[in-house]
Amino acid sequence: VSLDDLDLDRKSLLGAGSGGKVYKVVHRWTGRIYALKIIQEKHELDVRRQIMREMEILLRAKSPHLVECYGVFDRGGEVSFVLEFMDGGTLADVLKFHRTISERYLAEVTKQVLLGLLYLHKHKIVHRDIKPSNLLINCRQEVKIGDFGVSTVLAHTLAQCNSFVGTCAYMSPERFDPDGNGGEYGYAADIWSLGLTLLECAIGRFPCLQPGERPDWPTLMCAICLGDPPSPPPDASPEFRNFISCCLQKDAGRRPSAEMLLTHPFVKKSELQPCSVSTLLQGLVV
Ligand code: ADP
Ligand code: MG
Repeated sequence: VSLDDLDLDRKSLLGAGSGGKVYKVVHRWTGRIYALKIIQEKHELDVRRQIMREMEILLRAKSPHLVECYGVFDRGGEVSFVLEFMDGGTLADVLKFHRTISERYLAEVTKQVLLGLLYLHKHKIVHRDIKPSNLLINCRQEVKIGDFGVSTVLAHTLAQCNSFVGTCAYMSPERFDPDGNGGEYGYAADIWSLGLTLLECAIGRFPCLQPGERPDWPTLMCAICLGDPPSPPPDASPEFRNFISCCLQKDAGRRPSAEMLLTHPFVKKSELQPCSVSTLLQGLVV
């Protein structure tokens, strides 16, 4: 069934992020609910053509661990995406509510996100923007990666914007390297961002900066490229500490792949003690 964005009625604003706004919408004829992401920045025609071409590839990416994209539309320069609606919101919302997420839940979250990354990397897609607000939950116990490809689109114009600093916070050291042949980087960059995201969930604040430190570009770059990689507190389990240190190796070549990490004892533990990630959603469901 092909969707027409003109048939979508906006219900409420779910959130606004770098470059766009996300609305909860209902399809007039089927009553189905979607999330509609609108990139407000008006792009030149050739950039829009490139965006649409890239989106063709992404529309074909289907996995239970990726937020599905049902359509991409270009209305007079404004590009919008019709996305699977995730009724539990994002890990960033969970953190606002619970402050931290315990290892038991994190292990399950990790497994599902790794399965999503495994799919993307197998299809030669680097996500580039793994962070708490791009990992979404629903009440069917599912955790999914959102915004793959959208970040590719935003990268076209966002480099100059302030909001880009927020996105850079989860960037791996090699992505800051000006000699790193034109900003080329691989799958290992997503593994770094995953490690940082999980550590943030465990400790309840962004790990690379001290509380109160300004998250501006120079401070971040110094912390990420010159400092030692952050690590979990001593009372974390040895499995979690080891998992994080595997992800947060500054040398990209030493970071394990998503496939290898799926066999890590921290992830295996989630299979021994299954838990329901939807429990995280109490009081949160949008
Ligand atoms: P960011 O990822 O930087 O927060 P986005 O524009 O991607 O910015 O998303 C803004 C907010 O919209 C998210 O933080 C989330 O709360 C909400 N959102 C995004 N995608 C979805 C979705 N598929 N289902 C439900 N809520 C969503
Ligand atoms: Mg997002």
